[in-house]
Amino acid sequence: MIAKKMEDMVKNSSVIRAMFEEGKKMAAQFGPENVYDFSLGNPSIEPPVSVKEAFIDILNSEEPNLVHGYMNNSGYPDVRAAIADSLNKKFDTNFDERNILMTVGAAGGLNVILKTLLDEGDEVLTFAPYFGEYNNYVKNHCGVLKAVPANTVDFMPNLEQFEQMLTAKTKAVIINNPNNPTGVVYPVETIKVLAEIMVKKGKEFGTDIYLIADEPYRELAYDGVEVPYLTKYYDNTIVGYSYSKSLSLPGERIGYLVIPDSVADFENVAAAANVANRILGFVNAPSLIQRVVARCLDAKVDVEGYDKNRKLLVEKLSQFGFEFVRPQGAFYMWIKTPIDEKEFVAAAKKHRILLVPGSSFGCAGYVRLAYCVDYNMIERAMVEFEKLAKETKVN
Ligand code: PLP
Repeated sequence: MIAKKMEDMVKNSSVIRAMFEEGKKMAAQFGPENVYDFSLGNPSIEPPVSVKEAFIDILNSEEPNLVHGYMNNSGYPDVRAAIADSLNKKFDTNFDERNILMTVGAAGGLNVILKTLLDEGDEVLTFAPYFGEYNNYVKNHCGVLKAVPANTVDFMPNLEQFEQMLTAKTKAVIINNPNNPTGVVYPVETIKVLAEIMVKKGKEFGTDIYLIADEPYRELAYDGVEVPYLTKYYDNTIVGYSYSKSLSLPGERIGYLVIPDSVADFENVAAAANVANRILGFVNAPSLIQRVVARCLDAKVDVEGYDKNRKLLVEKLSQFGFEFVRPQGAFYMWIKTPIDEKEFVAAAKKHRILLVPGSSFGCAGYVRLAYCVDYNMIERAMVEFEKLAKETKVN
């Protein structure tokens, strides 16, 4: 018998998992070119060539016992120092290697920091719609995730309700910018108000409320929009970064946490996060890819490709009458369903279009479309989207 706690987690995981299996089945039945799978956030753009070159060069030129060996649980000191320098140049910050902890992607980083901070029953706030895995991550560490209801006008954080939901038990707030699933980018003005509220409430309760900035999509922003660096606006900010999307390396499992000197109880938080990385069983982030990313700090995937997909979808789906917020970041579109969301997902499936229901992100009545796919697939799918719009009476 599996643990009762796991039963729930398995149930929660089943929607996207089932969709993944369904996609494979449909591809076998109809032919892969006739299935339009917009369900997964798996990058479609290749990693930069410099990543491959770095792998090869490191294997040829660096000392094998260093490249493949155990290390400090926080990661290689030279890699962490290189990342800190690069952040300082980009964001005018003042980090050094003590502030950087290499992690097994953003998922690893979030689990490390939640394990570090949460006591049983501590509350973690986030904003709906949100990345569904937060439920499991918070539960892993015996916390309670509370979602601030969505602001369905523009999907910016609902700050009035947020203020009311902060309590003396709130240990952390997770904010994901650019956002999965909405594609919205929260601007500086919004972040400043959020920070003010957190400072005010922390003082009122006499507590330290940590802000966890979940930033796997930082590099995926369009129309020249700025993605604010949150440590500048709130002292108690910990940033979780990942190379899964920025360098298209999700299978390599690499990212880092930034724990600035300014966070409350810095020395203990940094030391505990180092131990959490070890005892969660990660021990340390994978060694070879740590050395690779340190050599690719200025490398970028060709974001133009995603932008091209975004523009085509925005144009066509609005032509067909679908309602959505214009996405400015990540690679997702968040579309209002003209009929019940489950019925809409089922109707889309009949057109061999796979979309994730909004309830998986804590906000029913919408679907998420991941456009990290081939441009040609989007073009082919448009005929089916048009039929779907007519059938579900979007107009
Ligand atoms: N946070 C958000 C909002 C995500 O969308 C994802 C992955 O899709 C993650 C965290 C986990 O990313 P990683 O692959 O770096 O663990």
